[in-house]
Amino acid sequence: MSRKYDTVIGLEIHVALLTESKFLCSCSTEFGAPPNSHCCPICLGLPGSLPAINAKAVEYAVIAGSALNCVINPFSKFDRKNYFYPDLPKAYQITQDAYPICGPGYLDYYVQDKLERTKIVRIHLEEEAGKLIHSGESIIDSEYSLVDYNRAGIPLIEIVTAPDITAPEQARLFLEQLRLVMNYIQVSDTKMEEGSLRCDANISLKPKGSPVLGTKVEIKNLNSFRALERALEFEKERQREVLEQGGQIEQESRTWDERAGKTMTMRSKADAPDYRFFPDPNLPPLNLDPVWIENLKKSLPELPLERLHRLKDQDRLSHYEAAFLVNYPDFGDLFEKVKVTFPEPKAIVNLLMGDYARLAREHGHLNPVRLGELLQLLADEVINKNQGKDILEELFKTEEDSPAEIVEKRGWRMLSDAAQLRKVVEGILADNPDLVGRFRNGENKLFGFFIGQVMRATEGKADPEVVNNLLREELEGGRN
Ligand SMILES: [Zn+2]
Repeated sequence: MSRKYDTVIGLEIHVALLTESKFLCSCSTEFGAPPNSHCCPICLGLPGSLPAINAKAVEYAVIAGSALNCVINPFSKFDRKNYFYPDLPKAYQITQDAYPICGPGYLDYYVQDKLERTKIVRIHLEEEAGKLIHSGESIIDSEYSLVDYNRAGIPLIEIVTAPDITAPEQARLFLEQLRLVMNYIQVSDTKMEEGSLRCDANISLKPKGSPVLGTKVEIKNLNSFRALERALEFEKERQREVLEQGGQIEQESRTWDERAGKTMTMRSKADAPDYRFFPDPNLPPLNLDPVWIENLKKSLPELPLERLHRLKDQDRLSHYEAAFLVNYPDFGDLFEKVKVTFPEPKAIVNLLMGDYARLAREHGHLNPVRLGELLQLLADEVINKNQGKDILEELFKTEEDSPAEIVEKRGWRMLSDAAQLRKVVEGILADNPDLVGRFRNGENKLFGFFIGQVMRATEGKADPEVVNNLLREELEGGRN
Protein backbone atom coordinates (compact mmCIF):
# COMPACT_ATOMS: atom_id res chain seq x y z
CA MET A 1 0.00 0.00 0.00
CA SER A 2 1.30 3.36 -0.99
CA ARG A 3 0.86 6.34 1.32
CA LYS A 4 1.87 8.79 -1.40
CA TYR A 5 -1.08 8.27 -3.76
CA ASP A 6 -4.87 8.31 -3.74
CA THR A 7 -6.55 5.65 -5.85
CA VAL A 8 -9.45 6.87 -8.00
CA ILE A 9 -11.82 4.30 -9.47
CA GLY A 10 -14.97 4.61 -11.57
CA LEU A 11 -17.06 1.78 -13.00
CA GLU A 12 -19.20 1.19 -16.07
CA ILE A 13 -21.58 -1.69 -15.57
CA HIS A 14 -23.59 -3.41 -18.28
CA VAL A 15 -26.74 -5.12 -17.07
CA ALA A 16 -28.74 -7.31 -19.49
CA LEU A 17 -32.46 -6.73 -18.94
CA LEU A 18 -34.71 -9.70 -18.33
CA THR A 19 -37.21 -9.01 -21.08
CA GLU A 20 -38.73 -11.92 -23.00
CA SER A 21 -37.96 -10.39 -26.38
CA LYS A 22 -35.07 -8.32 -27.69
CA PHE A 23 -34.80 -4.54 -27.56
CA LEU A 24 -35.83 -3.68 -31.12
CA CYS A 25 -37.42 -6.88 -32.49
CA SER A 26 -39.56 -9.73 -31.21
CA CYS A 27 -36.82 -12.42 -31.13
CA SER A 28 -36.54 -14.42 -27.90
CA THR A 29 -33.82 -13.56 -25.37
CA GLU A 30 -33.58 -17.14 -24.05
CA PHE A 31 -30.04 -18.15 -23.04
CA GLY A 32 -28.44 -21.31 -24.42
CA ALA A 33 -30.54 -21.82 -27.58
CA PRO A 34 -28.81 -23.29 -30.68
CA PRO A 35 -26.57 -20.65 -32.31
CA ASN A 36 -28.31 -18.13 -34.56
CA SER A 37 -31.78 -19.55 -33.85
CA HIS A 38 -33.09 -16.32 -32.26
CA CYS A 39 -32.43 -13.95 -35.14
CA CYS A 40 -34.50 -11.95 -37.62
CA PRO A 41 -33.91 -9.30 -40.30
CA ILE A 42 -34.05 -6.53 -37.64
CA CYS A 43 -31.44 -7.87 -35.22
CA LEU A 44 -29.29 -9.03 -38.15
CA GLY A 45 -29.48 -5.50 -39.56
CA LEU A 46 -30.73 -6.50 -43.00
CA PRO A 47 -31.52 -3.59 -45.32
CA GLY A 48 -35.12 -2.38 -45.19
CA SER A 49 -35.92 -3.78 -41.75
CA LEU A 50 -37.43 -1.36 -39.23
CA PRO A 51 -36.91 -1.57 -35.46
CA ALA A 52 -39.52 -0.87 -32.76
CA ILE A 53 -38.63 -0.17 -29.12
CA ASN A 54 -39.54 -2.80 -26.50
CA ALA A 55 -41.65 -0.97 -23.90
CA LYS A 56 -40.66 -3.47 -21.20
CA ALA A 57 -36.99 -2.55 -21.62
CA VAL A 58 -37.84 1.13 -21.11
CA GLU A 59 -39.88 0.24 -18.02
CA TYR A 60 -37.01 -1.82 -16.56
CA ALA A 61 -34.54 1.00 -17.19
CA VAL A 62 -36.83 3.42 -15.31
CA ILE A 63 -37.21 0.94 -12.42
CA ALA A 64 -33.43 0.42 -12.26
CA GLY A 65 -32.81 4.17 -12.35
CA SER A 66 -35.36 4.75 -9.60
CA ALA A 67 -33.79 2.06 -7.40
CA LEU A 68 -30.44 3.83 -7.89
CA ASN A 69 -31.94 7.17 -6.84
CA CYS A 70 -31.48 8.61 -10.34
CA VAL A 71 -33.25 11.49 -11.99
CA ILE A 72 -35.50 9.93 -14.66
CA ASN A 73 -35.47 12.01 -17.82
CA PRO A 74 -38.93 12.17 -19.44
CA PHE A 75 -37.18 12.95 -22.73
CA SER A 76 -34.38 10.76 -24.09
CA LYS A 77 -33.32 9.59 -27.52
CA PHE A 78 -31.33 6.99 -29.41
CA ASP A 79 -28.09 7.24 -31.33
CA ARG A 80 -25.96 5.04 -33.53
CA LYS A 81 -22.51 4.20 -32.24
CA ASN A 82 -20.54 3.18 -35.31
CA TYR A 83 -17.79 0.64 -35.28
CA PHE A 84 -16.86 -2.37 -37.32
CA TYR A 85 -16.53 -5.72 -35.61
CA PRO A 86 -17.95 -9.12 -36.57
CA ASP A 87 -20.13 -9.36 -33.43
CA LEU A 88 -22.07 -6.27 -34.52
CA PRO A 89 -24.27 -7.16 -37.52
CA LYS A 90 -25.39 -3.59 -38.31
CA ALA A 91 -21.87 -2.14 -37.88
CA TYR A 92 -23.46 0.24 -35.37
CA GLN A 93 -24.93 -0.19 -31.94
CA ILE A 94 -28.12 1.53 -30.84
CA THR A 95 -27.35 3.46 -27.66
CA GLN A 96 -28.12 6.79 -26.00
CA ASP A 97 -25.39 9.40 -26.23
CA ALA A 98 -26.31 12.99 -25.29
CA TYR A 99 -29.80 12.27 -23.91
CA PRO A 100 -29.79 9.18 -21.67
CA ILE A 101 -32.91 7.84 -19.93
CA CYS A 102 -31.51 8.40 -16.41
CA GLY A 103 -29.45 11.25 -15.02
CA PRO A 104 -27.53 11.60 -11.74
CA GLY A 105 -28.22 9.30 -8.79
CA TYR A 106 -26.34 7.32 -6.17
CA LEU A 107 -26.04 3.98 -4.39
CA ASP A 108 -25.32 3.60 -0.66
CA TYR A 109 -23.60 0.45 0.62
CA TYR A 110 -21.48 -0.75 3.48
CA VAL A 111 -17.72 -1.16 3.46
CA GLN A 112 -17.27 -3.09 6.68
CA ASP A 113 -19.31 -1.03 9.16
CA LYS A 114 -19.11 2.24 7.27
CA LEU A 115 -21.88 3.44 4.98
CA GLU A 116 -20.39 4.68 1.69
CA ARG A 117 -22.05 6.49 -1.19
CA THR A 118 -21.03 6.23 -4.82
CA LYS A 119 -22.59 8.69 -7.25
CA ILE A 120 -24.13 7.47 -10.48
CA VAL A 121 -23.53 9.83 -13.40
CA ARG A 122 -26.06 8.37 -15.83
CA ILE A 123 -27.79 5.23 -17.06
CA HIS A 124 -28.51 4.68 -20.72
CA LEU A 125 -30.30 2.05 -22.74
CA GLU A 126 -28.50 0.18 -25.48
CA GLU A 127 -28.41 -3.12 -27.32
CA GLU A 128 -26.12 -6.11 -26.81
CA ALA A 129 -23.66 -7.33 -29.46
CA GLY A 130 -23.39 -10.93 -30.67
CA LYS A 131 -20.97 -13.49 -29.31
CA LEU A 132 -17.74 -14.61 -30.96
CA ILE A 133 -16.51 -18.15 -30.38
CA HIS A 134 -12.82 -18.49 -31.20
CA SER A 135 -11.25 -21.76 -32.32
CA GLY A 136 -8.21 -21.03 -30.14
CA GLU A 137 -7.70 -19.42 -26.75
CA SER A 138 -8.09 -15.88 -28.10
CA ILE A 139 -8.84 -14.17 -31.38
CA ILE A 140 -5.09 -13.74 -32.06
CA ASP A 141 -4.15 -17.43 -31.98
CA SER A 142 -7.37 -18.67 -33.63
CA GLU A 143 -7.59 -20.12 -37.12
CA TYR A 144 -11.20 -19.03 -37.31
CA SER A 145 -13.98 -17.58 -35.17
CA LEU A 146 -17.68 -18.40 -35.19
CA VAL A 147 -20.34 -15.85 -34.50
CA ASP A 148 -23.66 -16.33 -32.68
CA TYR A 149 -26.17 -13.50 -33.05
CA ASN A 150 -28.71 -14.86 -30.54
CA ARG A 151 -27.42 -12.31 -28.05
CA ALA A 152 -27.32 -9.45 -30.55
CA GLY A 153 -30.07 -6.95 -29.75
CA ILE A 154 -30.82 -7.99 -26.16
CA PRO A 155 -31.57 -4.82 -24.16
CA LEU A 156 -28.91 -3.56 -21.77
CA ILE A 157 -28.55 -0.69 -19.42
CA GLU A 158 -25.13 0.82 -18.91
CA ILE A 159 -24.65 2.34 -15.47
CA VAL A 160 -21.80 4.84 -15.22
CA THR A 161 -20.47 5.83 -11.80
CA ALA A 162 -18.53 8.93 -10.81
CA PRO A 163 -14.86 8.29 -9.94
CA ASP A 164 -15.84 8.11 -6.25
CA ILE A 165 -14.35 4.76 -5.34
CA THR A 166 -11.04 4.78 -3.50
CA ALA A 167 -10.04 1.10 -3.26
CA PRO A 168 -10.35 -2.15 -5.24
CA GLU A 169 -12.23 -3.85 -2.41
CA GLN A 170 -14.70 -0.97 -2.32
CA ALA A 171 -15.26 -1.38 -6.07
CA ARG A 172 -16.13 -5.03 -5.50
CA LEU A 173 -18.50 -4.23 -2.63
CA PHE A 174 -20.21 -1.56 -4.73
CA LEU A 175 -20.71 -4.02 -7.58
CA GLU A 176 -22.04 -6.69 -5.20
CA GLN A 177 -24.58 -4.22 -3.81
CA LEU A 178 -25.56 -3.08 -7.29
CA ARG A 179 -26.13 -6.67 -8.32
CA LEU A 180 -28.28 -7.26 -5.25
CA VAL A 181 -30.41 -4.21 -6.05
CA MET A 182 -30.91 -5.49 -9.63
CA ASN A 183 -32.00 -8.85 -8.18
CA TYR A 184 -34.44 -7.26 -5.73
CA ILE A 185 -36.14 -5.23 -8.47
CA GLN A 186 -36.05 -8.26 -10.81
CA VAL A 187 -34.97 -6.44 -13.94
CA SER A 188 -32.04 -8.78 -14.62
CA ASP A 189 -30.86 -12.24 -13.67
CA THR A 190 -27.37 -10.66 -13.20
CA LYS A 191 -25.59 -13.94 -13.99
CA MET A 192 -21.99 -12.87 -14.43
CA GLU A 193 -21.03 -16.30 -15.79
CA GLU A 194 -23.60 -15.87 -18.59
CA GLY A 195 -22.56 -12.27 -19.21
CA SER A 196 -25.77 -10.66 -17.92
CA LEU A 197 -23.65 -8.44 -15.66
CA ARG A 198 -20.30 -7.13 -16.87
CA CYS A 199 -18.04 -4.43 -15.63
CA ASP A 200 -15.37 -2.12 -17.04
CA ALA A 201 -13.26 -0.15 -14.58
CA ASN A 202 -11.32 3.11 -14.82
CA ILE A 203 -8.44 3.59 -12.44
CA SER A 204 -5.89 6.33 -11.89
CA LEU A 205 -3.57 7.46 -9.11
CA LYS A 206 -2.97 11.02 -7.96
CA PRO A 207 -0.68 12.53 -5.33
CA LYS A 208 -2.36 12.23 -1.94
CA GLY A 209 -4.90 15.01 -1.44
CA SER A 210 -4.38 16.52 -4.90
CA PRO A 211 -7.53 17.87 -6.57
CA VAL A 212 -6.12 17.06 -10.03
CA LEU A 213 -6.93 13.60 -11.36
CA GLY A 214 -4.17 11.44 -12.84
CA THR A 215 -4.27 9.75 -16.24
CA LYS A 216 -6.77 6.94 -16.19
CA VAL A 217 -6.53 3.47 -17.59
CA GLU A 218 -9.60 1.49 -18.54
CA ILE A 219 -9.76 -2.23 -17.79
CA LYS A 220 -12.29 -4.01 -20.00
CA ASN A 221 -14.60 -6.96 -19.44
CA LEU A 222 -14.23 -7.91 -15.81
CA ASN A 223 -16.55 -10.86 -15.56
CA SER A 224 -16.47 -11.71 -11.87
CA PHE A 225 -16.24 -9.86 -8.57
CA ARG A 226 -12.89 -11.50 -7.97
CA ALA A 227 -11.57 -10.43 -11.39
CA LEU A 228 -12.66 -6.84 -10.72
CA GLU A 229 -10.86 -6.65 -7.38
CA ARG A 230 -7.72 -8.48 -8.52
CA ALA A 231 -7.39 -6.51 -11.76
CA LEU A 232 -7.71 -3.22 -9.88
CA GLU A 233 -5.17 -4.33 -7.26
CA PHE A 234 -2.72 -5.28 -9.99
CA GLU A 235 -3.27 -2.07 -11.91
CA LYS A 236 -2.93 0.11 -8.81
CA GLU A 237 0.47 -1.42 -8.07
CA ARG A 238 1.59 -1.23 -11.70
CA GLN A 239 0.74 2.47 -11.90
CA ARG A 240 2.39 3.20 -8.55
CA GLU A 241 5.62 1.59 -9.72
CA VAL A 242 5.60 3.56 -12.98
CA LEU A 243 4.99 6.84 -11.13
CA GLU A 244 7.57 6.16 -8.44
CA GLN A 245 10.19 5.54 -11.11
CA GLY A 246 9.38 8.94 -12.60
CA GLY A 247 7.42 7.52 -15.53
CA GLN A 248 4.06 8.56 -16.93
CA ILE A 249 0.85 6.58 -17.22
CA GLU A 250 -0.38 6.14 -20.78
CA GLN A 251 -4.08 6.58 -21.32
CA GLU A 252 -5.12 3.22 -22.70
CA SER A 253 -7.50 0.28 -22.53
CA ARG A 254 -6.20 -2.88 -20.93
CA THR A 255 -7.55 -6.40 -20.55
CA TRP A 256 -7.34 -8.63 -17.51
CA ASP A 257 -5.63 -12.00 -17.96
CA GLU A 258 -7.12 -14.17 -15.26
CA ARG A 259 -4.54 -16.95 -15.51
CA ALA A 260 -1.49 -14.71 -15.65
CA GLY A 261 -3.01 -12.48 -12.96
CA LYS A 262 -2.14 -9.26 -14.76
CA THR A 263 -3.55 -6.55 -17.02
CA MET A 264 -2.22 -6.13 -20.55
CA THR A 265 -2.40 -3.35 -23.11
CA MET A 266 -5.33 -3.74 -25.49
CA ARG A 267 -5.23 -0.43 -27.31
CA SER A 268 -3.69 2.99 -26.73
CA LYS A 269 -5.55 6.28 -26.81
CA ALA A 270 -4.25 6.94 -30.34
CA ASP A 271 -6.02 3.78 -31.50
CA ALA A 272 -9.28 4.64 -29.74
CA PRO A 273 -12.10 4.36 -32.25
CA ASP A 274 -14.10 7.39 -33.33
CA TYR A 275 -17.67 6.19 -32.95
CA ARG A 276 -19.22 9.03 -34.99
CA PHE A 277 -22.42 9.09 -32.91
CA PHE A 278 -25.47 10.38 -34.73
CA PRO A 279 -29.22 10.19 -34.07
CA ASP A 280 -30.91 7.03 -35.27
CA PRO A 281 -33.44 8.09 -37.92
CA ASN A 282 -35.66 5.01 -37.39
CA LEU A 283 -36.30 5.31 -33.65
CA PRO A 284 -38.46 8.13 -32.24
CA PRO A 285 -37.30 9.86 -29.04
CA LEU A 286 -38.85 8.62 -25.80
CA ASN A 287 -41.38 10.94 -24.21
CA LEU A 288 -42.30 9.37 -20.91
CA ASP A 289 -45.39 10.31 -18.93
CA PRO A 290 -44.29 11.75 -15.54
CA VAL A 291 -47.26 10.06 -13.84
CA TRP A 292 -46.19 6.68 -15.22
CA ILE A 293 -42.62 7.33 -13.96
CA GLU A 294 -43.97 8.28 -10.52
CA ASN A 295 -46.08 5.13 -10.33
CA LEU A 296 -43.08 2.94 -11.16
CA LYS A 297 -41.09 4.67 -8.39
CA LYS A 298 -43.88 4.03 -5.91
CA SER A 299 -44.08 0.35 -6.86
CA LEU A 300 -40.43 -0.33 -5.97
CA PRO A 301 -40.06 -3.22 -3.49
CA GLU A 302 -38.10 -2.92 -0.25
CA LEU A 303 -34.48 -2.50 -1.38
CA PRO A 304 -31.46 -4.29 0.19
CA LEU A 305 -30.25 -1.37 2.30
CA GLU A 306 -33.76 -0.63 3.61
CA ARG A 307 -34.14 -4.27 4.53
CA LEU A 308 -30.75 -4.28 6.28
CA HIS A 309 -31.63 -1.26 8.37
CA ARG A 310 -35.08 -2.63 9.25
CA LEU A 311 -33.60 -5.97 10.37
CA LYS A 312 -31.03 -4.19 12.53
CA ASP A 313 -33.34 -1.54 14.00
CA GLN A 314 -36.62 -3.39 14.39
CA ASP A 315 -35.52 -7.02 14.74
CA ARG A 316 -32.34 -6.16 16.67
CA LEU A 317 -30.17 -8.39 14.51
CA SER A 318 -26.41 -7.82 14.29
CA HIS A 319 -25.00 -6.37 11.08
CA TYR A 320 -23.63 -9.80 10.20
CA GLU A 321 -26.97 -11.56 10.72
CA ALA A 322 -28.94 -8.90 8.88
CA ALA A 323 -26.46 -8.93 5.98
CA PHE A 324 -26.89 -12.70 5.65
CA LEU A 325 -30.66 -12.34 5.27
CA VAL A 326 -30.27 -9.43 2.85
CA ASN A 327 -27.62 -11.07 0.69
CA TYR A 328 -29.62 -14.32 0.43
CA PRO A 329 -33.12 -12.96 -0.19
CA ASP A 330 -34.65 -16.46 -0.17
CA PHE A 331 -33.44 -16.78 3.45
CA GLY A 332 -34.65 -13.24 4.15
CA ASP A 333 -38.14 -14.08 2.86
CA LEU A 334 -38.24 -17.32 4.84
CA PHE A 335 -37.16 -15.43 7.97
CA GLU A 336 -40.17 -13.11 7.60
CA LYS A 337 -42.55 -16.06 7.22
CA VAL A 338 -41.19 -17.94 10.25
CA LYS A 339 -41.47 -14.74 12.29
CA VAL A 340 -45.25 -14.78 11.78
CA THR A 341 -45.63 -17.95 13.87
CA PHE A 342 -42.54 -17.61 16.04
CA PRO A 343 -41.69 -13.95 16.68
CA GLU A 344 -38.14 -14.38 17.98
CA PRO A 345 -35.82 -12.89 15.30
CA LYS A 346 -32.52 -13.90 16.95
CA ALA A 347 -33.53 -17.55 17.38
CA ILE A 348 -34.79 -17.74 13.80
CA VAL A 349 -31.66 -16.28 12.26
CA ASN A 350 -29.45 -18.58 14.39
CA LEU A 351 -31.34 -21.58 13.07
CA LEU A 352 -31.23 -20.37 9.45
CA MET A 353 -27.50 -19.56 9.50
CA GLY A 354 -26.54 -22.88 11.08
CA ASP A 355 -27.08 -26.43 9.79
CA TYR A 356 -30.26 -25.28 8.08
CA ALA A 357 -28.31 -23.20 5.51
CA ARG A 358 -26.19 -26.18 4.49
CA LEU A 359 -29.18 -28.55 4.21
CA ALA A 360 -31.36 -26.01 2.40
CA ARG A 361 -28.70 -25.42 -0.24
CA GLU A 362 -28.76 -29.14 -0.95
CA HIS A 363 -32.48 -29.85 -0.67
CA GLY A 364 -34.38 -26.55 -0.94
CA HIS A 365 -36.26 -24.69 1.79
CA LEU A 366 -38.60 -26.11 4.43
CA ASN A 367 -42.11 -24.95 5.26
CA PRO A 368 -41.85 -21.89 7.58
CA VAL A 369 -44.60 -23.26 9.84
CA ARG A 370 -42.55 -26.42 10.52
CA LEU A 371 -39.52 -24.26 11.37
CA GLY A 372 -41.61 -22.19 13.77
CA GLU A 373 -42.78 -25.41 15.48
CA LEU A 374 -39.19 -26.65 15.80
CA LEU A 375 -38.05 -23.35 17.31
CA GLN A 376 -40.95 -23.49 19.78
CA LEU A 377 -39.87 -26.96 21.00
CA LEU A 378 -36.34 -25.65 21.55
CA ALA A 379 -37.63 -22.55 23.32
CA ASP A 380 -39.85 -24.67 25.59
CA GLU A 381 -36.84 -26.91 26.34
CA VAL A 382 -38.75 -29.99 25.22
CA ILE A 383 -35.67 -30.88 23.16
CA ASN A 384 -32.01 -29.90 23.30
CA LYS A 385 -29.86 -28.57 20.47
CA ASN A 386 -28.66 -32.02 19.39
CA GLN A 387 -32.22 -33.23 19.08
CA GLY A 388 -33.08 -30.04 17.24
CA LYS A 389 -30.45 -30.96 14.65
CA ASP A 390 -31.82 -34.50 14.34
CA ILE A 391 -35.35 -33.19 13.83
CA LEU A 392 -34.10 -30.76 11.22
CA GLU A 393 -32.52 -33.64 9.30
CA GLU A 394 -35.82 -35.57 9.55
CA LEU A 395 -37.79 -32.59 8.24
CA PHE A 396 -35.55 -32.41 5.20
CA LYS A 397 -36.50 -36.04 4.46
CA THR A 398 -40.23 -35.46 4.92
CA GLU A 399 -42.33 -32.65 6.30
CA GLU A 400 -45.36 -34.89 6.79
CA ASP A 401 -44.85 -35.15 10.57
CA SER A 402 -44.60 -32.01 12.64
CA PRO A 403 -41.53 -31.62 14.87
CA ALA A 404 -43.74 -32.47 17.90
CA GLU A 405 -44.89 -35.67 16.19
CA ILE A 406 -41.29 -36.60 15.40
CA VAL A 407 -40.39 -36.08 19.08
CA GLU A 408 -43.21 -38.41 20.15
CA LYS A 409 -42.54 -41.09 17.56
CA ARG A 410 -38.80 -41.23 18.18
CA GLY A 411 -38.81 -40.53 21.88
CA TRP A 412 -36.47 -37.59 21.31
CA ARG A 413 -37.67 -35.65 24.31
CA MET A 414 -34.91 -33.93 26.27
CA LEU A 415 -33.89 -35.69 29.48
CA SER A 416 -33.90 -33.03 32.20
CA ASP A 417 -34.71 -35.15 35.25
CA ALA A 418 -31.86 -34.41 37.68
CA ALA A 419 -32.22 -37.60 39.74
CA GLN A 420 -32.05 -39.76 36.63
CA LEU A 421 -29.09 -37.83 35.22
CA ARG A 422 -27.24 -37.90 38.55
CA LYS A 423 -27.15 -41.71 38.32
CA VAL A 424 -25.59 -41.49 34.85
CA VAL A 425 -23.03 -38.93 36.04
CA GLU A 426 -22.10 -41.01 39.08
CA GLY A 427 -21.71 -44.11 36.92
CA ILE A 428 -19.34 -42.34 34.51
CA LEU A 429 -17.21 -40.87 37.31
CA ALA A 430 -17.02 -44.27 38.99
CA ASP A 431 -15.84 -45.84 35.70
CA ASN A 432 -13.04 -43.27 35.27
CA PRO A 433 -11.30 -42.81 38.61
CA ASP A 434 -7.94 -41.88 36.99
CA LEU A 435 -9.47 -39.08 34.95
CA VAL A 436 -11.45 -37.82 37.93
CA GLY A 437 -8.17 -37.63 39.86
CA ARG A 438 -6.44 -35.74 37.07
CA PHE A 439 -9.32 -33.28 36.83
CA ARG A 440 -9.21 -32.67 40.56
CA ASN A 441 -5.49 -31.98 40.21
CA GLY A 442 -6.17 -29.16 37.78
CA GLU A 443 -6.65 -30.68 34.31
CA ASN A 444 -9.70 -28.52 33.60
CA LYS A 445 -10.03 -29.48 29.98
CA LEU A 446 -11.21 -32.96 31.04
CA PHE A 447 -14.57 -31.38 31.92
CA GLY A 448 -15.58 -31.49 28.27
CA PHE A 449 -14.75 -35.19 28.15
CA PHE A 450 -17.16 -35.93 31.03
CA ILE A 451 -19.93 -33.87 29.36
CA GLY A 452 -19.36 -35.84 26.16
CA GLN A 453 -19.59 -39.16 28.02
CA VAL A 454 -22.90 -38.22 29.63
CA MET A 455 -24.32 -37.08 26.29
CA ARG A 456 -23.19 -40.35 24.72
CA ALA A 457 -24.68 -42.45 27.52
CA THR A 458 -28.03 -40.68 27.07
CA GLU A 459 -27.92 -40.85 23.26
CA GLY A 460 -27.68 -37.07 23.08
CA LYS A 461 -30.92 -36.54 24.96
CA ALA A 462 -29.56 -35.03 28.18
CA ASP A 463 -30.24 -31.41 29.04
CA PRO A 464 -26.72 -29.95 28.79
CA GLU A 465 -27.40 -27.35 31.46
CA VAL A 466 -28.47 -29.94 34.03
CA VAL A 467 -25.50 -32.18 33.16
CA ASN A 468 -23.16 -29.23 33.52
CA ASN A 469 -24.47 -28.40 37.01
CA LEU A 470 -24.38 -32.02 38.17
CA LEU A 471 -20.81 -32.54 36.97
CA ARG A 472 -19.64 -29.36 38.69
CA GLU A 473 -21.25 -30.48 41.92
CA GLU A 474 -19.83 -33.99 41.81
CA LEU A 475 -16.33 -33.12 40.59
CA GLU A 476 -15.60 -29.83 42.27
CA GLY A 477 -17.15 -30.94 45.55
CA GLY A 478 -14.20 -33.29 46.01
CA ARG A 479 -11.51 -31.02 44.53
CA ASN A 480 -8.34 -30.42 46.55
ZN1 LIG B 1 -34.58 -10.25 -34.10
